[in-house]
Amino acid sequence: MEAYSADRSLKGKLRRRLALLAHRRPVRMALERPMITFSFDDAPASAADAGARTLELRGIRGTWYISAGLAGRDGPMGVYATAEDARRLAAAGHEIACHTFSHLDCGQAGARAIADDVERNAEMLKAWGAGPAESFAYPYGDVSTAAKRVLGGRYRTLRTVQAGLVETGADANQLPSVGIEGPDGEAAALRWLDRAAQRKAWLILYTHDVAASPSPWGCTPEALGHLADAAKARGFDIVTAAEGARRLGL
Ligand SMILES: [Zn+2]
Repeated sequence: MEAYSADRSLKGKLRRRLALLAHRRPVRMALERPMITFSFDDAPASAADAGARTLELRGIRGTWYISAGLAGRDGPMGVYATAEDARRLAAAGHEIACHTFSHLDCGQAGARAIADDVERNAEMLKAWGAGPAESFAYPYGDVSTAAKRVLGGRYRTLRTVQAGLVETGADANQLPSVGIEGPDGEAAALRWLDRAAQRKAWLILYTHDVAASPSPWGCTPEALGHLADAAKARGFDIVTAAEGARRLGL
């Protein structure tokens, strides 16, 4: 699913730049301790298994942004998690959050198509017994003014894949996050973690599959564990996306 890449054209760049200015929900925050969220997009079954286990061993709860339309299907990151996986995660205290149902790209789709696809996903997660979802992630991180108009305010936070920290002035309808992906994923995430600790900011990390030989969009259980241990050692509050948002009054 992620093998598709979002619109890289000049028009796409302009659209994203315009979206930055539209339908904003500015964040105001003053944290005593830095905050971190571990999240998984789509999500592959391995994220629900090895990913969850890695966090649970450390007493941590994470957030899974699920595209219900992918459930049980096979993809370039392995087979996707099922309704049963989502229920188990929710029962263990993790957060089940919303992506689009079909992994629809909100950057390029029209307002009606976005609203319908997201509604379908939200309904399905509820039917699974894993809703209602409080947090949303844009597939491919791509966003448009129309997407923000339709979805902004419907969730506590909406997340892109634009690398950065959540600090005062960030837009709750278009939050940055940092990927644990590729060969440099762990090291890059660790640099952001140090920056977040220094600035008492909120770092939202995301990955996809969690496997010994991960796809280019995933990471190993060891990398995830190292980052979780680093967050603990640096005194981070480790929260789900919904809990982080509640702490910021979103
Ligand atoms: Zn995705």
